Amino acid sequence: MKLIFLGPPGVGKGTQANNICKQFNILHLSTGDILRAEIDKGSEIGLKAKSFMDKGDLVPDNVLLDIVSNSLQKNDAQNGYLLDGFPRTIPQADGLNRIMKNINQSIDAVISLIADENELVKRLINRSKESGRSDDNPEIIRQRQKTYWKQTAPLLDYYKKIGILKSINGIGEISEITKKIIKALM
Ligand code: ADP
Repeated sequence: MKLIFLGPPGVGKGTQANNICKQFNILHLSTGDILRAEIDKGSEIGLKAKSFMDKGDLVPDNVLLDIVSNSLQKNDAQNGYLLDGFPRTIPQADGLNRIMKNINQSIDAVISLIADENELVKRLINRSKESGRSDDNPEIIRQRQKTYWKQTAPLLDYYKKIGILKSINGIGEISEITKKIIKALM
């Protein structure tokens, strides 16, 4: 199974992605986690990415396409995967199509988690107390929301048009939301 998770920052993509990957025994590929690991390593990619991430902006598409292309060719991706935080722009989605064509694969479903923006900002401000993320402060949180609506939300239409988009309400009990996602995938 090959999945994409879409949704604004704070909607619970990471939590739900973990649950779904356990359920289907597939690889969880979070581009945010990969980028933060690169920052911790002090790599060239990390140094470049940090300047964008700390402003709440997107890291350039070519950086992400290289990361994803490499990750999808590794052994642990062969049983299926869930892309969490990628694609985030139309050029990234087009790039993903090309990558997948090359390896003879296709996306089975795109899960879109939905929530009210005020609820999301509240959640993220709460999370910031323990996340230790340099982009979890009120001003940058709002900027990340803006970036999502401007650059990522157009992907909802993109995947709706090809008939693989499934929208799920992201407000409620974590386990209930997981159940709804699993049901949508059956
Ligand atoms: P969230 O969605 O909660 O903001 P992520 O961990 O998914 O958190 O992403 C954190 C940051 O990493 C983003 O604000 C962005 O700067 C960068 N990033 C992650 N994935 C991508 C991507 N696909 N394209 C561009 N930038 C990305």
